[in-house]
Amino acid sequence: MAIYQLPTGTYETRAALAVQGGSFRDKRHFAATAVLIQHPKGDLLIDAGLGSHVAEHVAMLPRLVRAPYQVSRTVSEQLDASDYDHNRLLGVLVTHSHWDHVSGLDDLRVPVWINPAELRYAAAEPDGKVFRKLSPALQIREYPLDGPAYLGFPASFDVHSDGSVIVALAGGHTPGSVVVFVTLPTGARYAFIGDLTWQLDGIRRRVERPWLLRKLADSDAEQVRQGLSHMIALTGVMTVVPAHDRDAYDGIPLLPVRFSPAARATTP
Ligand SMILES: [Zn+2]
Repeated sequence: MAIYQLPTGTYETRAALAVQGGSFRDKRHFAATAVLIQHPKGDLLIDAGLGSHVAEHVAMLPRLVRAPYQVSRTVSEQLDASDYDHNRLLGVLVTHSHWDHVSGLDDLRVPVWINPAELRYAAAEPDGKVFRKLSPALQIREYPLDGPAYLGFPASFDVHSDGSVIVALAGGHTPGSVVVFVTLPTGARYAFIGDLTWQLDGIRRRVERPWLLRKLADSDAEQVRQGLSHMIALTGVMTVVPAHDRDAYDGIPLLPVRFSPAARATTP
């Protein structure tokens, strides 16, 4: 088993809107980064990052939410540059269905792993608009969250039946938001917490989103508060990775580039 980070770009958010106590002048660059979990039984991506049609997706958002963004390489491009065999990919498991987590899905064309609660939310709510645009062309694999409570979260799904990748229901930001817990054979443990909090501030300074954003961005702020307190309690045990904090991915390697034009040019 191994994990890799695939940063696809960033978008700007004012710190005042990101976290309590943040200033209006301070801009935060929110990471849009996917994670590849390699496993002998098949690999999974967590989220899809910004895709090649990101401009179209951003244009679909309400004006208030639209933000300047920078794109680097899509997940699909990074996999190709690493000479990755796409047949190893079981699918993309989305932490939730918001645009900045699903934009890259249409480049990948692999099954989308999503739980029934999140699928219902994405089918009905305004914030599911980008997902709804992309999903008709994609294979949807609904996975059940019918496993036992896990580390304080009420229900879980053991992807490979070996405890290495556990998806736990952490509703609140959206009803079907999940935390993906990964344990590597080395014993290293990670929790990919999606948007339970946007940045490490939420864990380190134990602060919530600002009041207005809790109202606007979370479907159940009290549930988010509980989930966040579970994660704060686990910080000594594992690396907690909020989806949008670039620093949180430090220590997770990038995919090795095997077929860059420069590498080819130097090959005799
Ligand atoms: Zn997000």
